[in-house]
Amino acid sequence: MTEVSLGGASREKLGLLLDELGAPSYRGDQIRVHAWRGTAFGFDQMVNLPTGLREQLPQRIRWSSLSLVEATVADRGMTEKLLLRAADGQEVEAVMIRHDSSTTSRERRTVCVSSQVGCAIGCSFCATGQLGLRRNLEAQEIVDQVLEAARRWGGGGLGAPTNVVYMGMGEPLQNYSAVVASIRLLQEWGVAPRRVVVSTSGLVPEIDRLAAEELPLRLAISLHATSDEVRDRLVPLNRRYRIAELIEAGQRFAIRTGRRVSLEYVLIAGVNDSTEDASRLRRLAAELRGHVNLIPMNRIPSSQLAAPALPWCREFAALVGPRATLRFSRGDRATAACGQLRAAMEADRRRLQRTDLRLAGSP
Ligand code: SAH
Ligand code: SF4
Repeated sequence: MTEVSLGGASREKLGLLLDELGAPSYRGDQIRVHAWRGTAFGFDQMVNLPTGLREQLPQRIRWSSLSLVEATVADRGMTEKLLLRAADGQEVEAVMIRHDSSTTSRERRTVCVSSQVGCAIGCSFCATGQLGLRRNLEAQEIVDQVLEAARRWGGGGLGAPTNVVYMGMGEPLQNYSAVVASIRLLQEWGVAPRRVVVSTSGLVPEIDRLAAEELPLRLAISLHATSDEVRDRLVPLNRRYRIAELIEAGQRFAIRTGRRVSLEYVLIAGVNDSTEDASRLRRLAAELRGHVNLIPMNRIPSSQLAAPALPWCREFAALVGPRATLRFSRGDRATAACGQLRAAMEADRRRLQRTDLRLAGSP
């Protein structure tokens, strides 16, 4: 049994594999169309392929490197969170987000993908950070998250994913080669690098390396603080790469790729939400000529940190000025923000296991 999955096979690789099976290369396009449009949920359902080929394919290529554990719908069906399990039992989440539009054909459909199981950076406000790093995801495990979303949307009569953001679990630039490989594979599936956002907590050398790849993707820098003193506490990586260095790396990325760099800023009451923070953030965004996404923090179980009251979030956004937008992470009422779904489910399962034990032990 081969380890490569459909998401991890480039067109060329799939073509070679079909060649070995004695099938013409156009079969590869037929297979990819089914997978991308959600018209089949397994090789056996690809009715326009010869029966022999349908039977041989699963022996040479895996349908997916991930299996679906649970899907949670929120925002009246506009957001769906997926919990997916890898072959070794590790679990990651992906979030499917539809953006309002009058027609489904013009609608943007974004998949928020995970790049690692857990994360080594350890930001104090982030549920994924509290898990620590368990392992890197392979490129195919990243692409298979997008394929799972594609099947679900396609099967539901909607179009394919249009955008991919690396804002799920993990620090994408600490899994550099798999992330870049996944972006190149996604390009073949029809998601152009222009429609990809990579979000980073600030690995300066990898930002420069990414700028040199000649992929016109968008970079988002998770800033979260306007002084090194506060950022050291929120994003421990700041002890290695200071705010000034990070902004400069962002500027180099913007010049090299011609793409604007944006800033992410999770608002935390009494920590990074003073009027001085707002004016410093305004200056930093101007230096970068980029947009700022302000995200009121979602509570996580292990921390006392919380978002400021909503009127102050609005006031803070106004103080930062026209470069700032106040955003709310999608689906937060169902299971909270990225990285928190899995933590919540693990807690649920522990509770369930305890109940099972009690039941098993009762007469
Ligand atoms: N590791 C990368 C990408 C994944 S995190 C990074 O940090 O940029 C994606 C985004 O989710 C980041 O901007 C992060 O700050 C945000 N986030 C994490 N925990 C959050 C929380 N509790 N509330 C709101 N946003 C959160
Ligand atoms: Fe890792 Fe990003 Fe969470 Fe920080 S915010 S711990 S970098 S996933």
